[in-house]
Amino acid sequence: MAYDPNNIFARILRGEIPNQTVYEDEHVLAFHDINPQAKVHVLVIPKGAYVSFADFSQNASPEEITAFVRASGRIAQDLGVEADGYRILSNHGVDAAQEVPHFHLHLFGGQRLGRMIKPLDS
Ligand code: AMP
Repeated sequence: MAYDPNNIFARILRGEIPNQTVYEDEHVLAFHDINPQAKVHVLVIPKGAYVSFADFSQNASPEEITAFVRASGRIAQDLGVEADGYRILSNHGVDAAQEVPHFHLHLFGGQRLGRMIKPLDS
């Protein structure tokens, strides 16, 4: 799947759409989800143009991957959810109902999240 430079996160990265930033460095931006699914719901995205986890994991540089993983852990600490726990999740493709085709992690916390996922059907 080719990267769509007009996806909403690409537009956020270009400053065309506002966001509530919680963290930013050379390779990473993190901001609050506009439609939070938990008391804490933050999106962590690489600044590079990667469609999904599959794309990022295969094509990002070691520097980008290291920066992304380290930033994600640090953001959880900075958000204050480290002690009580949190969940990270990334949707890839149709089965996972990925909406925005720019790789991102969801970071959920601030409350009890229950176990795992609820499939649409089994
Ligand atoms: P996914 O289904 O994994 O692609 O998740 C996309 C997420 O992006 C959803 O949780 C949306 O609520 C969130 N989202 C969409 N537009 C914005 C926006 N402008 N600012 C912040 N979050 C957004």
